[in-house]
Amino acid sequence: MSRAIRPLLIFVALLWLAAVQAQTKITTPKEQFGFNIGDDYVLVNYTQYADYLKKLDRESDRLTVQEIGKSSEDRTMYLAIVTSPENQKKLARYKEISERLAHAEGLTDDQARTLADEGKAVVWINGGIHATEVLGSHQLIENIYQLVSRTDAETLRFLNDVIILNCLVNPDGMELVSNWYMKERDPLRRTLNGIPRLYNKYAGHDDNRDFYMSALAETDAINRVLFRDWFPQIVYDHHQTGPAGAVMFSPPFRDPFNYFLDPMAITLLDEVGAAMHSRFVVEGKPGVTSRSGANYSTWWNGGLRTSPYFHNQIGLLTETIGSPTPIDIPFVPDKALPKTDTPFPIDPQQKWRFRQSIEYSITANRAVLDYASRNKDRILFDIYRMGRNSIERGSRDTWTVTPRRLRTAKTRDELRTPAARDARGYVIPADQPDFLTATKFANALIKNGVTVLRATTVRFIRPDRML
Ligand SMILES: [Zn+2]
Repeated sequence: MSRAIRPLLIFVALLWLAAVQAQTKITTPKEQFGFNIGDDYVLVNYTQYADYLKKLDRESDRLTVQEIGKSSEDRTMYLAIVTSPENQKKLARYKEISERLAHAEGLTDDQARTLADEGKAVVWINGGIHATEVLGSHQLIENIYQLVSRTDAETLRFLNDVIILNCLVNPDGMELVSNWYMKERDPLRRTLNGIPRLYNKYAGHDDNRDFYMSALAETDAINRVLFRDWFPQIVYDHHQTGPAGAVMFSPPFRDPFNYFLDPMAITLLDEVGAAMHSRFVVEGKPGVTSRSGANYSTWWNGGLRTSPYFHNQIGLLTETIGSPTPIDIPFVPDKALPKTDTPFPIDPQQKWRFRQSIEYSITANRAVLDYASRNKDRILFDIYRMGRNSIERGSRDTWTVTPRRLRTAKTRDELRTPAARDARGYVIPADQPDFLTATKFANALIKNGVTVLRATTVRFIRPDRML
């Protein structure tokens, strides 16, 4: 080695060491809160979470924290955007690609494929909409921490291929519930029961029934990210609790599926669900059930996870057991026998601790991120394809087949009457008596990302002449 090169090498080695040290100086939850996320008898409140998030934002170049609005009680809502440092520099471009593919307007298939190749998968993960379901908020803290601190090859691949939008969606509820639980000095007396008021100021549990209306400050902020700003291809909403005798319900959902969705929204949902179940089996985590394992479906249309279906996004729901106060898993014969919907049943004779539920949630998140990473180009192209399908359907007559229509129609032609056609658009007359309410309606649509245009002229054509 020449004398000139040796100091240079030492300098490079020092730089490398500095880079490694910068990455390892991520504050752990235990250093921040005094306990690990998922330890028995402890919860973090929203103020503590927000302080930690701001610290991680300063420490990690994989994280960008943005304010997306205020809660009903005026707490700031944050979007924690996690991706590789290289991707962080081009967030505006990736957001633009995500929007263009989701809208699908003015693109050829070739252009869409080129954009899908350049773009990154966008995955939204949230927690805490139902604040007493404390696993949702706490898995999100652990998820953000692991994604900004882990250095294994799989995590680095996720960060390269995927932009992860983490959001704690009910700040007021988390503050209320965590403070209520932690107010008892004696851990054994701590409880999530008896909270004296609603954990969303106006809607309580129905804060997850407002996504078609955007009437709440929280919903307004979330819908803007989902349907007007980032257009994630996958939206994952964590809930509790799991079905008795199991640990978690995870997609696929039961039949009948929602006839009004693009069929690809269902087939992709089933793919992601299958990837989740496989990962649980591979990691030796039993007790995850699907379809007939619970009553969840793709029908309720106003929720955080279901409204996205109408935007051709893959909406995921999990319902998971677990509490900071350890619980027992009951023996339920129906959940004890292996079957397609419960491939790997759990032995119920065990004390179940909160940390186990956190680890199941991380497994589920990583299954979704692995799917998004390995199928990045496909899911970007497929959301374009579903959008194009929708534009094509709006350019001709279509009919949605439902059980009720099938009961009354005796022939195919009876199903396909002009009056039974799907709407291609809706007209909101400006000369109606209560135009103020009509305006509120139009604004709710706009907040949901629906295009509302003002007509300059109106020409009515008799429906039978349109065929
Ligand atoms: Zn819930």
